[in-house]
Amino acid sequence: MINRLLLVLLATAAVVSAQTTAFGTKATANATAETTTPATKGASKALEEEVDNTVIITPFRTLTPPEAKTSRTFQLSKVNKLGFTETSKELQRLYSAFATQRIIDGSPSGSSKATGYLATVNYALVQDLGDNRFLAKAAWPAAGPNDVLAAGADTMAVLLLEKPAKVGDTGKITGMHVGTVALLFTATYSPLVGKRLTLRREAFVECATLEDSQTGLQKFVEAVNAGAEMSATTNEQITCKKCGGLGFTREAEKGKLLDKRIPCAECVSGKVIISVETKFAP
Ligand SMILES: [Zn+2]
Repeated sequence: MINRLLLVLLATAAVVSAQTTAFGTKATANATAETTTPATKGASKALEEEVDNTVIITPFRTLTPPEAKTSRTFQLSKVNKLGFTETSKELQRLYSAFATQRIIDGSPSGSSKATGYLATVNYALVQDLGDNRFLAKAAWPAAGPNDVLAAGADTMAVLLLEKPAKVGDTGKITGMHVGTVALLFTATYSPLVGKRLTLRREAFVECATLEDSQTGLQKFVEAVNAGAEMSATTNEQITCKKCGGLGFTREAEKGKLLDKRIPCAECVSGKVIISVETKFAP
């Protein structure tokens, strides 16, 4: 499913070569030349009138979510049992995280782990790039540990929507960030109308996440009990191992009764935030 979405987003390469032969022009070569030297005005008028409407989207920088630093297991059979840390409140919290990290698709389990950060993207469509892909003015919050995906505010982004839409449409989607792409196209919006440009922009694919509801939680519990392998990644605050949660380390000083306190470089007041993968077991 995810691969299919990415292919759809990037599916222009084949189309481009087909159009190249159809028009009998070296669209790709011209495009590259114009990108690197946008001020080439020596081109003949005939060429300028022939508007190149091909759209080429290529991956520029992929975003690989950082691997969880540590992993732990949450056993459903221990929930709310005396002497165990598993509680229904904790299960609820972990399920909420799980639900926002899965995208609904046609896989046997009904959903798959999202390969990029999911964010609510508010958009206004600026240009139709074909195949439900759009250049949009968008806004989204930062996502990931240490805000790996920086927030966008009035930022141009490339969107792959689920349903057809038109320029000027505004809306809100759950978007999965699929990295930065290089978009080569001819602008149709002012003040750049007719300009052949390359933009490097964050790309989002519209998707649906699991419903964070009691029904969803119930189905999730049933799936885990039936043997499905599920996990959720969360940021957790843990006690710093280096200083034992003190926030400083001690160093003996000659001739002094008290040790010297050195602030711990690996934590803030004895606490460290790490990415934890919680695996669920029956
Ligand atoms: Zn420390």
